[in-house]
Amino acid sequence: MNVSDLKHALTGPVILPEEAGYDAARRGFNALVDRRPAVIARCLGRDDVATAFAFAEANGLEVAVRGGGHNPAGHCVLDGGLVIDLSQMRTVEVDPDARIARAAGGSTWFDFDTATQAFGLVTPGGIVGSTGVCGLTLGGGIGHLTAQHGLTCDNLVGAELVTPDGSVVEADEELLWALRGGGGNFGVATRLEFRLHPLDGVVGGVLTYAGDGVREAFRTFLDVVAGAPRDLSCQAVLGVDEALAPTLVVIPCYTGSASDPEELRALRSAPGLVDDGVRPRPFAEQQSLLDSPYGEQRHYWKGHFVNELPDELVDVLLEHVTALGRPPGDILVESLHGAPKDVDAGSSALTYRTAAFNVSAMATWRDPALDEEHIAWSRETAAAIQPWSVSGGYANYMQADEPIERVRAAFGAEPFERLQALKRRYDPQNVLRRNQNIPPG
Ligand SMILES: Cc1cc2nc3c(=O)[nH]c(=O)nc-3n(C[C@H](O)[C@H](O)[C@H](O)COP(=O)(O)OP(=O)(O)OC[C@H]3O[C@@H](n4cnc5c(N)ncnc54)[C@H](O)[C@@H]3O)c2cc1C
Repeated sequence: MNVSDLKHALTGPVILPEEAGYDAARRGFNALVDRRPAVIARCLGRDDVATAFAFAEANGLEVAVRGGGHNPAGHCVLDGGLVIDLSQMRTVEVDPDARIARAAGGSTWFDFDTATQAFGLVTPGGIVGSTGVCGLTLGGGIGHLTAQHGLTCDNLVGAELVTPDGSVVEADEELLWALRGGGGNFGVATRLEFRLHPLDGVVGGVLTYAGDGVREAFRTFLDVVAGAPRDLSCQAVLGVDEALAPTLVVIPCYTGSASDPEELRALRSAPGLVDDGVRPRPFAEQQSLLDSPYGEQRHYWKGHFVNELPDELVDVLLEHVTALGRPPGDILVESLHGAPKDVDAGSSALTYRTAAFNVSAMATWRDPALDEEHIAWSRETAAAIQPWSVSGGYANYMQADEPIERVRAAFGAEPFERLQALKRRYDPQNVLRRNQNIPPG
């Protein structure tokens, strides 16, 4: 099969380097990643995906899979190979009676929330609308409803995959277990199905703290989530202001029935509060609080799950967030209290759900001349957090340079072997290796 056969066989467009739209089609969220694929196959369905796999095999091309294009490691694009681009497959069907949503392989959280919120339903997803539903789910999924409904992958109840040999597979329980965190290792998901939960509005928004109160406000955030409120998901972001002094942003998402919940009162009365944007709002509005420009900034993220955030580690974070001498990006602290802990250990391979927080040093910058310094900042900050590290790394935020031990540790030795056995069944040649890879063994 040559390129003109592929163009003929595929129902979606095939984009080559010399053609219009190539540069936009190869661009991902992370501007640090600048790669030139030989062929971009914009698939419109499972037959297209199978055709693209067959073309790659016939031409000895390496394969990358693109959903929302957000992965910070840039796994969705490669030099010289074939991209299976799902960005045109964005339909989300909702069955409100069964409370199930079926999301096509390239749908984004904006697509998903728009479709499900039309029925007053949700599943816990990502917090930026342009992130891919499948990419995020296959890596776990932490967001504004984690405390209420668990990781995104805990809500995954069905999947259709196209495997590298072109077979269409309806996931059984064993494969679903693997897909709950095992990444894009087993096939291209052309459809994922999710359990939905009723939700109309939330009390949410952004609380900003600055000045001398930041440390104490951060402690208040930690105290609030230590109480494991089931109806309050809460994330915190440490950054710096123009004077390079630490700032704190806390993003609560409350779904309970209290008119003045104690936890929100505590956050709002913490010292250093300079802006209070928390109010009742539609969930869709909460989901757009943190939208971020696509393909413009350079990113390098590294972090650790931790079981506790003692004063000593708080000091480490505050020290590192100001250490670069210019805004480094930020340090994201995601609380994993509540529903992630409820899940029966047999339903998912992930071990990090038992951790208290996911702490990530997210370097973000624009000038390529600053690449080295920002990457070093992220690495050094993550290294300083490392003494508290548990459970390996978070696949969704990993760079391509993470050692396999960090991927393995996110599952534990035995589940990793079980994942490898499934890899041998569905992708024995490791065609799908542009990911946080689970090698066939
Ligand atoms: C701005 C931003 C916000 C984010 N917010 C969150 C958040 O709130 N919570 C969170 O947990 N994570 C979040 N992430 C991380 C995100 O979940 C991961 O980077 C994820 O891999 C992105 O998926 P994608 O489809 O957008 O990315 P892509 O780069 O397109 O895909 C990443 C990888 O996922 C796999 N993949 C994607 N789609 C499929 C498919 N249909 N079938 C098989 N494999 C597939 C492939 O291996 C692919 O290489 C965020 C990232 C960014 C940049």
